[in-house]
Amino acid sequence: MLKGKAAIVTGSTSGIGLGIAHALAAQGANLMLNGFGDAAEIEALRAGMAGQYGVTVLYDGADLSKTEACVALVRHTEAQLGRVDILVNNAGIQHVAPVQDFPPERWDAVIAINLSSAFHTIRAALPGMKARNWGRIINIASAHGLVASPNKSAYVAAKHGLLGLTKVVALENAETLVTCNAICPGWVLTPLVQRQIDARAATEGVTVDFAARELLSEKQPSKRFTTPEQIGELTVFLCSDGAGNMTGTSLPVDGGWTAQ
Ligand code: NAD
Repeated sequence: MLKGKAAIVTGSTSGIGLGIAHALAAQGANLMLNGFGDAAEIEALRAGMAGQYGVTVLYDGADLSKTEACVALVRHTEAQLGRVDILVNNAGIQHVAPVQDFPPERWDAVIAINLSSAFHTIRAALPGMKARNWGRIINIASAHGLVASPNKSAYVAAKHGLLGLTKVVALENAETLVTCNAICPGWVLTPLVQRQIDARAATEGVTVDFAARELLSEKQPSKRFTTPEQIGELTVFLCSDGAGNMTGTSLPVDGGWTAQ
């Protein structure tokens, strides 16, 4: 379905981004991977995906906390893959602390990576998409883009902001075939969430399994984790013609979290 399209997935060396990258490559899209990790493992991942799906898979280790690196990621992709048709802004970090104890430098980092990087990549990729009159921008927000939880001020502010940015980009381009939508996952069992579960198990003196069940019970009525594959499948749908008139939306994949 996406044969010949060129896609960037930020933060695709792990978790949800990796699930999205697999889903897009399985549909024939050429990929620019991004994110941190061990160089040899990333190279094995890149070569493995290229072989598995028969598509071009490249890697750029841009640090998206930096404006110039966001722009360079888009330019590098345009140079190597010819253009950017699909932009998935997925890279994200978390920091958990009450506001009065929240380190200002962690606030700056969360806002830079979870929100500002999406502005910079969209700003850089839009002219090409508009010139070709086709594009799909998909921002990976969160249930925390729609509702709040204590101790996550920067994350909740960034994700609410990302939904606002999504709507503005959608409206500014509504008459073109460039769409911009957000996906709002609930709990997905990735390294980002595993760290929160491990911290909870240590603080409460309970097992990791018990802490994971507690985490789900508090927020996610299905009591099941969303999977990276499920987020990947929704991303593919948003890239399809079937989603051609969907823009400016925020789509929860959260087991009922935000229905409460
Ligand atoms: P993860 O930690 O598994 O992956 C994060 C990715 O972002 C990694 O590839 C990492 O290297 C990359 N990254 C981090 N800082 C970066 C930087 N400065 N520059 C470039 N890349 C950077 O986390 P995940 O759970 O897969 O999260 C992916 C996205 O999904 C995030 O935006 C997160 O907020 C969002 N999300 C996650 C959940 C969840 O339950 N896991 C729920 C809702 C939303």
